[in-house]
Amino acid sequence: MSQAPRVVIVGASLAGLRTAEAVLALLPDARVTLAGAEAHAPYNRPPLSKEALERMITQPGVGPALEKLVLRSRLGADALSLRPGLTASGVDTEKRLVRFTDGSGLAYDWLVAATGLRPRRLPFTTAPDHRFVLRTLDDALALAARLASPQRVIVAGGGFIGCEIAATLTHLGHRVSLVEPLPNPMQQALGPRVAAAMAGFHRARGVDLHLGRSLADLHQTDTGCRVVLDDGTMLQADLMVEAIGSVPNVEWLSDAGLDLSDGVLCDNAMLAVGAEAILGVGDVARFPNPLFGGAPRRVEHWCVPGQTARRAAETVAARVAGTAPAPVFAPLPSFWSDQHGMRLQSFGAPALADETLVIDGDLAGLGTRPCLVEYRRAGRMIGLLGLGAAPSALVAHRQRLDTALLQAAHEHTPQENAGV
Ligand SMILES: Cc1cc2nc3c(=O)[nH]c(=O)nc-3n(C[C@H](O)[C@H](O)[C@H](O)COP(=O)(O)OP(=O)(O)OC[C@H]3O[C@@H](n4cnc5c(N)ncnc54)[C@H](O)[C@@H]3O)c2cc1C
Repeated sequence: MSQAPRVVIVGASLAGLRTAEAVLALLPDARVTLAGAEAHAPYNRPPLSKEALERMITQPGVGPALEKLVLRSRLGADALSLRPGLTASGVDTEKRLVRFTDGSGLAYDWLVAATGLRPRRLPFTTAPDHRFVLRTLDDALALAARLASPQRVIVAGGGFIGCEIAATLTHLGHRVSLVEPLPNPMQQALGPRVAAAMAGFHRARGVDLHLGRSLADLHQTDTGCRVVLDDGTMLQADLMVEAIGSVPNVEWLSDAGLDLSDGVLCDNAMLAVGAEAILGVGDVARFPNPLFGGAPRRVEHWCVPGQTARRAAETVAARVAGTAPAPVFAPLPSFWSDQHGMRLQSFGAPALADETLVIDGDLAGLGTRPCLVEYRRAGRMIGLLGLGAAPSALVAHRQRLDTALLQAAHEHTPQENAGV
């Protein structure tokens, strides 16, 4: 292969852009194409359920919305070929060619899958004009356009995005009912104890929670929709937002011989397992992290696109140079969430814990004073959560977490670390 490889990145969002930057930092001569289905320049998604949604509702207009969301990049305008509005439909791994829905194709030496996720939908066909999702800027604009005056809103799903939407809309004076099948919101991510406290936190701020309930039926009404829950409860609303999880965008890779059972299965170097010269990055990538035992997992946090982008670029640069990338990639996951003016900040993997310890503050006082929670698995620290806590209050505990996770990683066998 020449020293100026053709790198085609499919998916022009956070992971795609950061991969382009990382590849060009290591291989300045690389010919990088960043092709994405959306018509917009790469932009930041987290504000779409928080302050940007609020702004779009209170100060409508696509210009200002995109301006504030656009991802800043250190790349010059002509450093790469940015191709918005281009949707990949297939890959010919023999010819090393990506095909697009407009009939065009791009040859690659290295192909990076950065196609992220799309919202999972409820299995109803009724009330299509009153059902919304929130993944893209266009989704947010469509939702905001319906919220100019106070509305009754059902949020289906009590994960982070559902809870953030519920908090944002309640704050703006909309009447929000949130339906979640588990006993408490965000339970899988935060564990039952913290999730129960978050339920009280949302209720106290006006969100009508229907926990342990799922949607059995959906009807269109004259003014919106009516939801029937599995216990027979009926909820009338003007509109519903479906926030019931996501599906990886992998169909375009279906002929590439990859394991696409939950995103793109990658090894620890971010190389897709089963194909030459294909890598996965960001939300769509399922990869082993030795910090957590080496089982491949997808992680839907904002930090992961940047971390996996750098790793993928190092892998490409090492292969181009005929060397091997650093042996182990062990990124520390972290995420934040803003709900009713309180910031949640998490490090590590609270979802894998079997024990929850409040190490500072108290869960009963959420939103009024800071609270710190330590998560353990088999007696060892595996995660840290700050609720309304200043970043400085987390520093010392983060160091303890880093130490505990690194110790655990060293104890895993190299085979486990390979993870596949
Ligand atoms: C509303 C919302 C709020 C969030 N809030 C937080 C938060 O507070 N904290 C946090 O840590 N994380 C948050 N996240 C998660 C974070 O935004 C994601 O982890 C991050 O956007 C993932 O980036 P990505 O580039 O991997 O995927 P995406 O951002 O999903 O980008 C994938 C891109 O690929 C494109 N694409 C898909 N298929 C094709 C195809 N066939 N051809 C071409 N292009 C294609 C898509 O159109 C999209 O532009 C939030 C996400 C959302 C949606």
